[in-house]
Amino acid sequence: MRSTELFTKTKKQAPADEVSKNAQLLIRASYIHKEMAGVYTFLPMGLRVLENICQVIREEMNAIGGQELKMTTLQDPEIWQATDRWDDEKVDVWFKTKLKNGSEIGLGPTHEEPLIRAVKPYISSYKDLPFLAYQIQTKFRNETRAKSGVMRGREFLMKDLYSFARTEEEHDELYEKIKQAYFKVYKRLGVGEQTFLTFASGGMFSQFSHEFQTVCEAGEDTIYLDRKKGIAINEEVNDDKVLAELGVKREDLEEVRAAEVGNIFTLKDKFSKPLGLNYLDENNQEMDVLMGCYGIGPSRLVGVITELLGDDKGLVWPYEIAPFKVYIVRIGDSEAVIKATDKLYAELNEANIEAFYDDRDVRPGEKFADADLIGIPIRLVVSEKTLAGDEVEFKKRTDSNIEMVKLVDIIERIKSN
Ligand code: ATP
Ligand code: MG
Repeated sequence: MRSTELFTKTKKQAPADEVSKNAQLLIRASYIHKEMAGVYTFLPMGLRVLENICQVIREEMNAIGGQELKMTTLQDPEIWQATDRWDDEKVDVWFKTKLKNGSEIGLGPTHEEPLIRAVKPYISSYKDLPFLAYQIQTKFRNETRAKSGVMRGREFLMKDLYSFARTEEEHDELYEKIKQAYFKVYKRLGVGEQTFLTFASGGMFSQFSHEFQTVCEAGEDTIYLDRKKGIAINEEVNDDKVLAELGVKREDLEEVRAAEVGNIFTLKDKFSKPLGLNYLDENNQEMDVLMGCYGIGPSRLVGVITELLGDDKGLVWPYEIAPFKVYIVRIGDSEAVIKATDKLYAELNEANIEAFYDDRDVRPGEKFADADLIGIPIRLVVSEKTLAGDEVEFKKRTDSNIEMVKLVDIIERIKSN
């Protein structure tokens, strides 16, 4: 894409009403637009990152057999009443509205109930299990606080996967497989080193649930981290009994701020029983399906990655999720420079390397500042000077080093970045 084709422009100033670093940077770089508190539009640049994050998650969920579907936002109160989750006293984040005939409907804050109702007609025998179903979909939650930019939205994207198993062993196996897939996701998103499996309260269904917490100053949670063991515990379960069970010592724990980027739960028959999701086992016995639910917040991750990796110059995206891989700066507007830069841009496109071509008629300094602000991993500069040696300047966003690379070698250099 050429920058003169993109309708958005970067901004010099962060909006005064945004307190979080992620919202400030993402708005300045024109990745997002604030509609109202906790409600953000993803503009073309931001959407590319969000979609890339979703694609990584999708690939890892598909790799363990996850089957993608998409449920509805509008929710029928009936099934939520059956599990006692319709009452605002029980679930305090509901957005509710009314049909023309006066009957109430809700906007889905999570989707266990409707998914159970949708899969029920397909499950009758033990042969129909196990399976994993997931979606990547907009959730609505009437959050009290919405000051963390895209890290806490009232309307936000969630990947929610649900497991359906016959026995506890089968459930545990799926749970472990999904947990391992989550580690792969965070690693590919460039936050693997800062993201820790965190023991949280499992309520009455299992001893623990697990959160995936990314250590980050802007996070809203406090966790206690054993760096050597690579595990953490959250505030709910921070007591001596739990520490002993996990084999960690209090003196090894570091108190840090963190953001929850994922959460996995054993549900047992909590929802399947009241909604009648059961099957006949090998002995013709009616059994409840055992479920688990597993969330990741792609839009929160956009914010967390911004908070973690962004610097005083702007955004920094890991290669895999960057909106473009290469930012081309053209310096000068002589025919030779324009021709050579156009050719380079065409060659990158042909090699399937997504490039953002800054072809504007502005000062080089402005182009360099935008390249840094937008945070694309590789910057190439073409000028009369570089062309004199049949070269192009190559620089990584995370490195101050500038390399001169022959034009004929540039594709190889980018690929081996
Ligand atoms: P939190 O404790 O942060 O309120 P939660 O425990 O309610 O989150 P889940 O219902 O488990 O979250 O949702 C799964 C994932 O969705 C979370 O791990 C998080 O990454 C993301 N998420 C939850 N709430 C929000 C929100 N308001 N805005 C953006 N992402 C969110
Ligand atoms: Mg939580």
